[in-house]
Amino acid sequence: MQLENLIAERVPFMHRRLDNGLSMVVAPDPAATVVSINVWYKVGSRDEPLGRFGIAHFIEHLMFQGTERTERGEFTELINRAGGSPNATTGFDRTSFFMSVPRASLELALWLEADRMHSRLRGTPPESLRDQLAVIRQEAAQRARKPEARLFDRLVGRLAPSQANYGHNAIGDVDALETLTIDDVHAFADRHHVPQNAVVTLVGAVRADEGFALIERYFAAVQNPPKSTIDGLRDGVVHAAELVPTSKTPVIAGLAIKLPSSPSSRYAQAAAALDAIGRQKTGPFGRHLDLSPTGDHDVSVSDIPLHRSYSVGFVFIRSTDSRSIQGFADRARDAFSSACAAGLAEQEWASAVRRRTADHLARLSDLRHRAEVLSELVAVNGDTTASLTEGFLPNSRTTPGRLTELFAFDSLTVDVAA
Ligand SMILES: [Zn+2]
Repeated sequence: MQLENLIAERVPFMHRRLDNGLSMVVAPDPAATVVSINVWYKVGSRDEPLGRFGIAHFIEHLMFQGTERTERGEFTELINRAGGSPNATTGFDRTSFFMSVPRASLELALWLEADRMHSRLRGTPPESLRDQLAVIRQEAAQRARKPEARLFDRLVGRLAPSQANYGHNAIGDVDALETLTIDDVHAFADRHHVPQNAVVTLVGAVRADEGFALIERYFAAVQNPPKSTIDGLRDGVVHAAELVPTSKTPVIAGLAIKLPSSPSSRYAQAAAALDAIGRQKTGPFGRHLDLSPTGDHDVSVSDIPLHRSYSVGFVFIRSTDSRSIQGFADRARDAFSSACAAGLAEQEWASAVRRRTADHLARLSDLRHRAEVLSELVAVNGDTTASLTEGFLPNSRTTPGRLTELFAFDSLTVDVAA
């Protein structure tokens, strides 16, 4: 018998994919008495940005430290009680979580794995960051004492063109990790520790049909968060003002607002809503700004659609009103908040939808821009079934409800910079 056939016969496996992008593999083994579970995330030290070397391995540690539904240490304790020893490793390209449990504890194990994929470290106590850094310092010291490990690092360091990607090991830079906040950790996990970036494999004492059914039962509801929040943007609205004394309207205040990533139907709705709110000085924002009738004012709105992070919308106000420049920026923020709370009139929404639609059609009528839109579409969605309508055009039949939900943040009270 050929080796190829022998392996196929001895190691039969099947794979499938859930709607949320999670890959599943089941390899039954009638001789086995336990089930081995592997949860594989396609993220490792090569994915770490500058100044964050070591974060993938750090998250591997934190994934055992509790969620909103489990206490710190409970993951390991429950699996230990079931007879398993959960552990994990982080490499250049991947993070691998593994354990073997009796068939009777398979559902518990899958519940725990799905729970931490769902939580992505929400509920992890903040003191775990400090504690796990201390553990990682010990691991780093141990590693530094091994000549083979030092040599390995030097050799890989020579192969890699820079410290980025493959140029540093999974331990990374422990001092740099000291400055990480829980938000930084969430942002990295939200980008990488998600169903569409993961594979769940079951090997051993489980039938293929029941294996797939169980993975689906626990993981199908795990959502992928909005694309990429790594090094992402802060929540809320930020505002700032500049004085340009030579200008006819010397005060320029601006607001930046997070919008959903593009192309997506949520982005299309949010960008149109922003357009409606900031439409000239007579729009909802301008009306709430309560501009002095004797002054000269101009309101404009724009946005930068981003694919790999949140998009950003801008509202600019130019004015002759120079009562304290910072005061003007604060007023602009408050006016924006009130305009969002008041919502849009049907007519304002309809006009914004028409403007956005006309702009999109104009882009598609030009070959260069049409090619650009198509590249964008396939680059982002990865398949050609994606449509040139959905994700680009706001839906005229749906009047936006709570505007703050459209703008990818929950509350306008978060205000981080003046
Ligand atoms: Zn470690």
